[in-house]
Amino acid sequence: MRVTVVGCAGSFPGPDSPASCYLLEAEGFRLVIDLGNGALGVLQRYAGLFDIDAICVSHLHADHCADLGTYWVVRQYPDDGPKPPIPVHGPRGTADRVAGLGSAAVPAVQARFSFHELEPGSFGIGPFRLTAERMNHPVETFGFRVEHAGWRLAYSADTGESEALVRLAADAEVLLCEASFLDGQDARPDLHLTARQAAAHAARAGVGQLVLTHLVPWNDRDRTLAEADGIYTGPLSLATSGLVLGPAAPPPAGR
Ligand SMILES: [Zn+2]
Repeated sequence: MRVTVVGCAGSFPGPDSPASCYLLEAEGFRLVIDLGNGALGVLQRYAGLFDIDAICVSHLHADHCADLGTYWVVRQYPDDGPKPPIPVHGPRGTADRVAGLGSAAVPAVQARFSFHELEPGSFGIGPFRLTAERMNHPVETFGFRVEHAGWRLAYSADTGESEALVRLAADAEVLLCEASFLDGQDARPDLHLTARQAAAHAARAGVGQLVLTHLVPWNDRDRTLAEADGIYTGPLSLATSGLVLGPAAPPPAGR
């Protein structure tokens, strides 16, 4: 498996990264997890517009799904005619949400995307084995564990403190965990994690490597890293757009 961080900005795009988007590749299959604001542009650095085989969205906040509406336009209006539907796995209501984003009726959206409603549990997408768990966020949100050839990635999506996240990430080689808040910020419970809380979840799950993501552009990156340091003692780094993870990738520079 090769994982490319396309977008890791939290809540809104930043100057150096779109909002959430991750490209997972194995055996020639390309799975996109989340497609937040601005992600479709940068995604084209790593995959052709029509080389995406499936999409999975964690939840329907704009910073995780807004460019699904844009991508519908891309698949609807190519010079050589509309493209066949590809699978889109998402929470209940994803088709309605994409229709709103793409200014299209639901049947038109369903002609380009075949929607599959997420539920907790395991299922296959191409060569990947996915396990979905509900996270602790104000709208229905799924975190994912993705396995291929014995290598395991866990992704928190957006979540407050969550036992389900610890289960999902247990013994994963890499945990991509959101760290939206810094200590001392007005962090509402059941919404997002601080960097310190993210590190505590990683430590409890016993992950091989922690990459903090969903980094809000106005937060100090050095402070984010420093607040996680010491709570999780394994390899620790911050996500950047373009970062590559996977069994063949060297550990990213962190501390
Ligand atoms: Zn959210």
